[in-house]
Amino acid sequence: MDIVFVSAEVAPYSKAGGLADVAGSLPQALAPYVDSVQVLTPLYGQIDRNKYDIQSSQTTGEIELGDDTIPYALHHTVADDKKTKIGFISCDRFFARDGIYTESDGEGFKDNNLRFFFFQLAVLDLITSGHISVEVLHCNDHHTGLLPLMMKIKMPHVKTIFTIHNFLYHGHFSTGDVNLLPDTVKPLLTTTQWGNHSALLEAIDHSDLVTTVSPGYALELLAGINVDEHSLARIQAIETHFSGIVNGIDTEYWSPEIDQYTPYHFSKDDLSGKQKNKEALLLKVGLSPDLEAPVFGSISRLVENKGFPLINELLDEYVSLGAKFIFLGSGSPDIAAELRDASRRHPQHIAFDDGFNEPLAHLIEAGSDMFLMPSRFEPCGLNQLYSLRYGTIPIVHRTGGLGDTVEPWTTDSGTGFVFEPYDLEALRKSMKTALKVYHSKTDWLSLVQRAMSMDFSWDQSARQYLHLYNL
Ligand code: ADP
Repeated sequence: MDIVFVSAEVAPYSKAGGLADVAGSLPQALAPYVDSVQVLTPLYGQIDRNKYDIQSSQTTGEIELGDDTIPYALHHTVADDKKTKIGFISCDRFFARDGIYTESDGEGFKDNNLRFFFFQLAVLDLITSGHISVEVLHCNDHHTGLLPLMMKIKMPHVKTIFTIHNFLYHGHFSTGDVNLLPDTVKPLLTTTQWGNHSALLEAIDHSDLVTTVSPGYALELLAGINVDEHSLARIQAIETHFSGIVNGIDTEYWSPEIDQYTPYHFSKDDLSGKQKNKEALLLKVGLSPDLEAPVFGSISRLVENKGFPLINELLDEYVSLGAKFIFLGSGSPDIAAELRDASRRHPQHIAFDDGFNEPLAHLIEAGSDMFLMPSRFEPCGLNQLYSLRYGTIPIVHRTGGLGDTVEPWTTDSGTGFVFEPYDLEALRKSMKTALKVYHSKTDWLSLVQRAMSMDFSWDQSARQYLHLYNL
């Protein structure tokens, strides 16, 4: 079986969020079980070609986009497993710039629709011209949402599967943009209630199978939670071939025992390195190295949905109880300003690093006691999984993948603190309980060890994908 996996971001080459982590690790988990896995993604200007040994190939092509004919070229490397092929599509006009989706000020590129139309047409061209062979085409999120329809037109025997990593992002495009697409595609598109088009919904309509990244989130979508009426009708229409498969994690890259970014290593049987990482982390972010103080970590895109309005309300109260907070994130300037203000009010208790910082993300996972993830909704969430592995106890809202992966604490079971409904009181109560347990050394140790015993490797989830590919 030849699998082609298409994604707008793939770790470690390019990353804005969890999609990159999945696109970087799932194909490698599939590789031992199939004939070939080829990942296709754009070659963004920021990708370091030398570092990843990305080679040019003879394969090139031209794409017609409206009145323009635009060239592309294929480049390649192999992933760490030495089996998974990573193909990069280059195009000076659309991808040579830095940034995956946005300018450096966070503003989305004005030509994003064109960029990802082009990317998808290039993928289609590579497949239909025979340069890449495929039996199952696995598309991810709206940047690849038109491929299932385009494949159905050109090569209907290829099986298409589409994974929704976040239903919030539709990739809306206008009727004007439609004119850029091939004539065969235009009449088959559906107009939304807003008079435009949604790449995400097109994928839902035209894929053979649709998945999302946790069973809990699949149920929420089918129940219409955070879904408008028009989209709901289109999701419910595919209920029989829609399912949720929880994301796995790369257990070598995110391993407390061998993490390349943390100064000390540790395991559930010897946690001394975790304390040393805590000290290193506090010093690194400029907080006093008080090892008795409970430390809450947070690594997140700065968007309202990740729960920042709730967190912000509770910071002063919990600092007065002796807690420390370390935030790493980029995104909304308003949320960044609030976190900056809070760190100025409490310079010894709150640190905020405004940016994208992979090494610091690992140190926060390794050195914090608790991980704050009170998302209003969360399709799967990866940081709570990394946290469990590093014995950093997650505090999560019971929603989507968070509800599926964190078991609520009781005196002798559970792996984290889970609250509902999504409001201030429920979060406050959950953090209070967390502090109480934190101060009871034996209860805390068993909780940490239970969390670290959980298995979120890709194995089980990869098998579920293979089952779908084979259906
Ligand atoms: P989402 O995909 O909604 O952003 P996930 O929890 O699924 O949320 O995945 C987020 C991924 O991005 C995690 O690997 C997380 O560590 C990483 N990440 C998010 N923000 C940052 C940041 N500022 N610096 C480093 N890594 C980050």
